[in-house]
Amino acid sequence: MKNSEIEELIKKEIDKTRKLIEVYKEETKPVAPDCTIDILARNDAMNNMSRVSALLQQAKAKLAALELSLTKVGTPQFGKCVGCGKQIPIGRILVRPESLYCIECSE
Ligand SMILES: [Zn+2]
Repeated sequence: MKNSEIEELIKKEIDKTRKLIEVYKEETKPVAPDCTIDILARNDAMNNMSRVSALLQQAKAKLAALELSLTKVGTPQFGKCVGCGKQIPIGRILVRPESLYCIECSE
């Protein structure tokens, strides 16, 4: 695969991740306390909020990792497993850009 194609794939994933972050941010916006809401519904909303904040943190970490990998495309460090030195498949880099290991070494 050409470096330009790899860059294209990473950029697309960056775009997708940015949009996801916007969605999560929207969902974690503080809502005005509503007295009509019952306690169970409020608990649900709180649970959902903490779940979405966790996803938001994950997405932010992923975005940072993707941006870092983008700067490494074409260098010997790009996508190299720190465990065995083999090339990590691009599909895995896009899904788990923060991982420094190939599938075999991370198991
Ligand atoms: Zn490995």
